[in-house]
Amino acid sequence: MPIEMTTLALRLGISRCLLGEEVRYDGRHNLDNFLTKVLGRYVEWIPVCPEVEAGLGTPREAMRLVGNPQNPRLITIDSKIDHTRALETMTTNRIEELKNFDLSGYVFKKNSPSCGIERVRIYNEHGVPSRKGVGLFARAFIEQFPLIPVEEEGRLCDLTLRDNFIERVFSYRRWQAFVQSGVTKQALAQFHMIHKYLLMAHHPQQCKVLDRLIGKAHQHRPKELAHRYGELFMKTLAVKATVRKHLTVLQYIFGQFKERLGAREKAALLGGIGDYHRGLTPLIAPLTLIKHYVQVFDITPLRDQVYLNPHPNEIMLRFHV
Ligand code: SF4
Repeated sequence: MPIEMTTLALRLGISRCLLGEEVRYDGRHNLDNFLTKVLGRYVEWIPVCPEVEAGLGTPREAMRLVGNPQNPRLITIDSKIDHTRALETMTTNRIEELKNFDLSGYVFKKNSPSCGIERVRIYNEHGVPSRKGVGLFARAFIEQFPLIPVEEEGRLCDLTLRDNFIERVFSYRRWQAFVQSGVTKQALAQFHMIHKYLLMAHHPQQCKVLDRLIGKAHQHRPKELAHRYGELFMKTLAVKATVRKHLTVLQYIFGQFKERLGAREKAALLGGIGDYHRGLTPLIAPLTLIKHYVQVFDITPLRDQVYLNPHPNEIMLRFHV
């Protein structure tokens, strides 16, 4: 059976300034309307402002990353005060606390020397910037929680990236619930089975690698197996699903029950798939039709596929695939 998510809370970490709290260095905020007004209806936010929690106060002098991109320092721009130690101490303590929250995702503020997850400006000894930095807190968080989906608010303006992030958050939540319910080899095979078409839509080759891992499950201890599977599962979903890959999956699914359809039903479904291919309708249109036939003809292997049965809240949040 699909994993029941209706009673599971979605809890996401977030850079506190994105919620409209005036914690920026200049005493202002970075309120993000999509996060607060749309996504916020479905998730519980766990806000963190690394710089305020490190005791640097608001307002405070602006700071930037300086030195080696692998091991940068956090230095104020004018007075050259080094706040690296304060940030690192805060980070160690906060990450320890966050382990108790079962976060299913994290939205970071872009470009911040504390919160940015990529392309943050870092300055060399001559004061020349490059876009190779990662914010100190964000880097430590990603190292500690490598499977948790993370994104920057700026990238969430890209509707495809937004949909992918939301899908990964829901998928990771299902994975968390599955692990918490106790991993057995049989249960993992079932988990894989219901995610099969979703995985194929992201990375068909990696889906086959997961197939082989499940096929050789007897060679691994359950804990090690779950660890390997979880890592590859989330990596596979991080690869962007494309219209072409969705099309392949839709045609594959269609092939599994086309013999049971009459001529008019076949034409309707192929027409729906074609409209999606041409960009005339979103993915949910042919999926709804397929789901209808799966129920009418009681096609067991397809009935529980997450690909056909995303969580209702996930449907509400994803419009652009
Ligand atoms: S970007 Fe991070 S450190 Fe800066 S104000 Fe926002 S939450 Fe605080």
